[in-house]
Amino acid sequence: MVEVADLPVVDVHCHPFLNRGAITAEQFTDLTAFGGGSRGFVEQGGIEFTTAVRDELQRVKRDTIYFRRMILDLARFFGVEPDLDAVIAARNDAVAAGYGDYVRRLYGEAGIETLLFDFGVPLPMLDVAEVRAELPVEVAPIFRIEPLIADLLKTDIGWSEFKTRYDDAIATALTRDGYVGVKSIIAYRTGLDVSPLSRTADQGLQALDMIRRGLGGGSMKMLRDHLLCRALDLCMEHDVPMQIHTGMGDFEVNLVLCRPAYLMDLLRFPVYRACRVLLVHTGYPYHREAAYMANVLPRVYCDVSEGIPFAGHAAIDIFSGVLAMAPLSKVCYGSDGFALPEINYTSAKLGKQALARVLDDLVADGMLAARDAQEAAGMILAGNARALYKLG
Ligand SMILES: [Zn+2]
Repeated sequence: MVEVADLPVVDVHCHPFLNRGAITAEQFTDLTAFGGGSRGFVEQGGIEFTTAVRDELQRVKRDTIYFRRMILDLARFFGVEPDLDAVIAARNDAVAAGYGDYVRRLYGEAGIETLLFDFGVPLPMLDVAEVRAELPVEVAPIFRIEPLIADLLKTDIGWSEFKTRYDDAIATALTRDGYVGVKSIIAYRTGLDVSPLSRTADQGLQALDMIRRGLGGGSMKMLRDHLLCRALDLCMEHDVPMQIHTGMGDFEVNLVLCRPAYLMDLLRFPVYRACRVLLVHTGYPYHREAAYMANVLPRVYCDVSEGIPFAGHAAIDIFSGVLAMAPLSKVCYGSDGFALPEINYTSAKLGKQALARVLDDLVADGMLAARDAQEAAGMILAGNARALYKLG
């Protein structure tokens, strides 16, 4: 049997959070909900926020298998009944006694040692030093390009200055501010069907000119595609990996143009074959596509975050589907946790359980030696991410 309980965990994709102190069961539900909580859904949708609507949205969030599993994990951790109110009461007592100490115990029990935080969520961006100071584990920041693009679009600068500021901001983050990689959520904006020929320098000039003149005609896609290519160039120059969001996300994501397969033309282009690219969320529910790409493209990797934990029991299907084709050395564990430390916790517990199950099955079926399965568990939970991001 593959032993995972004591293995260390590097969470390769998640988002920073600060101590919020005591919270209600309603806040806990909203803050840990996949795709945004009930309040956000109401505010963004302009739905009248009646008590009936709120109660219904809260119930829906609590009725997911992911949420039920999290309550079971936390009830076990605190030694209380598996009941939301009992868990929240125990949680608030623990936070009141010392937030850092609570997170240390929580993450210590799950083996979480390192969090790679995409600082692009929440906005406005949290301060890296402040987040680090509150958390008892290693924090490695990732630089997201979309907030930078949004800021530059608010100015009236021309292309030459736009390009310089874009390059400088990314270079400064990587060389001065301790960021260990770059990330794009272009799947949320204009989709993953990015032509590698978008790297042509004049595409940026043409696109920004069209945007400044108030022309549509796909100008925003032209600009975003060009800037994604530029980010890949900069990642190679600074020898850091690029994370690209693929697959599921909150209800804003383009669920058609988020398929990893749309990235094939870009990532097999001669120049970009050399760039190390992590397919965030391994494209779930298109995770088999991502695994295929990790197989045929030597520098493409899979990150199982978000499907684990938010797709609940599908964690087994994710590891099983990804390991069908992705090399053992190219699969990284991640959670996509945000807002509260408990998401990362339950994700690590679920991820370990599912990984052990899948590796045990591979051993039982004569696909993998027991010793190799144990080694693979350590690689997928931490070692592969440590090597990819050159973490100590
Ligand atoms: Zn994320």
